[in-house]
Amino acid sequence: MVLDLKTMRNIGIMAHIDAGKTTTTERILYYAGGIHKIGEVDDGEAVMDWMKQEQERGITIQSGATTAYWKGRNKEKYQINIIDTPGHVDFTAEVERALRVLDGAIAIFDAVGGVEPQTETVWRQAERYKVPCIGYVNKMDRLGANFSRVLDDIQAKLGTKPTALQIPIGAENSFEGVIDLIAMREIRWNEEDEGVTMKDAPIAPERQQAANEWRDKLIDAISQMSETITEKYLSGEEIDAHLLLDEIRAAVLKREFFPVFTGASRRNQGVQPLIDAIIDFLPAPNESVPVIGHHIKKNEEILIPCNPDASPVGLVFKIQHDEQAGSLCYVRMYSGSIKPGDSVYNIGKKKRERANRILRMHSNKSTPLDPLSAGDIGVVIGLKLAQTGDTIGSEGFPVILESMRFPEPVISVSIEPKSLSERDKLKDTLALLSKEDPTFTMREDVDTGQLIISGMGELHIEVLVTRLLEDFKVGARVGEPQVTYRESVSAIVEKKQEFSRVIAGKENTAVLTLRVFPRPRGSGNLFTNEANTKNVPPAIVAAVERAVNTCFGSGIALGYPCIDVGAALVSLEYSELTSTEFAFEAAASICFNDACAEASPILLEPVMAVDISTPHEFVGEVMSLVTQRRGQVVSQDSKTSGEEVKTLAPMSKMFGFMTSLRSVSQGRANFSMVFSHFEKVKKN
Ligand code: GDP
Repeated sequence: MVLDLKTMRNIGIMAHIDAGKTTTTERILYYAGGIHKIGEVDDGEAVMDWMKQEQERGITIQSGATTAYWKGRNKEKYQINIIDTPGHVDFTAEVERALRVLDGAIAIFDAVGGVEPQTETVWRQAERYKVPCIGYVNKMDRLGANFSRVLDDIQAKLGTKPTALQIPIGAENSFEGVIDLIAMREIRWNEEDEGVTMKDAPIAPERQQAANEWRDKLIDAISQMSETITEKYLSGEEIDAHLLLDEIRAAVLKREFFPVFTGASRRNQGVQPLIDAIIDFLPAPNESVPVIGHHIKKNEEILIPCNPDASPVGLVFKIQHDEQAGSLCYVRMYSGSIKPGDSVYNIGKKKRERANRILRMHSNKSTPLDPLSAGDIGVVIGLKLAQTGDTIGSEGFPVILESMRFPEPVISVSIEPKSLSERDKLKDTLALLSKEDPTFTMREDVDTGQLIISGMGELHIEVLVTRLLEDFKVGARVGEPQVTYRESVSAIVEKKQEFSRVIAGKENTAVLTLRVFPRPRGSGNLFTNEANTKNVPPAIVAAVERAVNTCFGSGIALGYPCIDVGAALVSLEYSELTSTEFAFEAAASICFNDACAEASPILLEPVMAVDISTPHEFVGEVMSLVTQRRGQVVSQDSKTSGEEVKTLAPMSKMFGFMTSLRSVSQGRANFSMVFSHFEKVKKN
């Protein structure tokens, strides 16, 4: 089947936890024909949340991709691929990954809560990936719902001017429907058939004035972007709805315009116009900015246009483990196409593997997909080596899509198998989980032999551990979560090391000098070669570098990974007769460790940026909670919606913060927490 890119959309839905992302997605899938029954999130039945844990927690952890179809205003059939993005910042990497592969997004706001700290975090990420967005103010039926206040909040906190394309009719319990400010009609939904049918009507006289005022604001906002509209407006001409839609579309694609819709998804009000808006305003794959790739052979950055006939380039953006099928690799194709049975080239790993089957995922079933072409998203089965973030394509066009930035893991737990016989299963399962989620890391403690896994936050680790114990049924004892510290040096030390050992009658010698030194905070570890190694085999220098890199990972005095440590190879004595890679690796390792031990090693702890929003009356309690936890207030902003407090606090003091914050604020304060930087550990 030849795909018409014009009728395709790859979109994501981003929201703060509980804003109604799952409910809204569910309704979209219902109306767009994907599912036959509306599952309520509260019943743990929603189809997007198919992992057991997500159902139990009622949050969306992993971003699956689901396809739905919708008839556009032009009567053409559109294909919408919905990439579900998690709302919790512990899953930032998943959000980033989803944002990379989608072309447009819906930002959902709670009509009562407005912009919450985590929405702000995700919004900034969407800005970085230049994703065009439309907004949806959900839960207009809730007590305290206030549409205008949410718009003010968006402007104040996100620094984006929202423009209403609809306004609500009534609010809270008396929320009835919306006024469409383009058609200038009232729309209501039929309660009897779960909102499948809608009725539109002329605007009631008592609402006409308000509707006119909002319409003027809308025209005014578009005029600032479009000369055509300005001219028509000034000459008092009637402005055609199609022209308005076209001009808004052009401005949304440039991220100059943020149209906002409203409704109450749970009451089946407001969803269909939102689906129309996906088609009307969000880009087709060939309309979004071409992705940038790094051409390995040419060593340069190149743009990859969305062309199904060019060489294949696709990104594995998610891997899920399925007991029967093995690894389900979600792939977004950016260029070219792949067919079932094709052997595809994993560019980073320089290996070929067979794409046995390719599927399109619907909400409740999957269908074969042949081929998977540029612009589209599908699941490839058969790729055993692929990891999340890998680029697949062909040897002839070796391009790596820009690698994703992942934040530092800040929390670890130790895991021990219940019995020795389960050790292998534990290790295999952890390896499998890290293939799905590269933000969680695993290492073996050199002294105790324990396995230590690290992640982005308490919830992240908790979810991993539950998957391990319950989904994979591994018998293991799990320790208490600990902060992952880092080690560094604070002085410059140069050291010479000689190594000589006879193994199996053969001499192994090495002599080298290393200098270790502190690097600026946040700049990472670096190995450099300053020695004259012209006449030394490259494998010897490579052995030194390999040893130093291993040492960076295993730490100095306490076994925490090193950070911001420089190691320079100053000189090396090579003997053709007796020098070996083994000897140099061993010498480098001893030399590095001894030099670091003398270079005034220090312990660094992760410091988190914690942004809190609280109703005014609790600000005192919230502040003292922050102080108790050694947090420093960076800024405090008083808004009509509440108090915004930005703080920096050491991760070691932030365990269980959510519970304490909830209890001092009667559950009404909210926060987001992301890694900020590492800092020397201070004594309490
Ligand atoms: P998510 O965490 O963003 O995926 O949010 P959910 O879709 O799980 O919704 C969170 C809670 O809000 C659930 O209890 C929903 O039933 C409820 N909810 C969703 N939409 C609405 C709505 O339009 N009105 C009201 N009053 N509640 C809603």
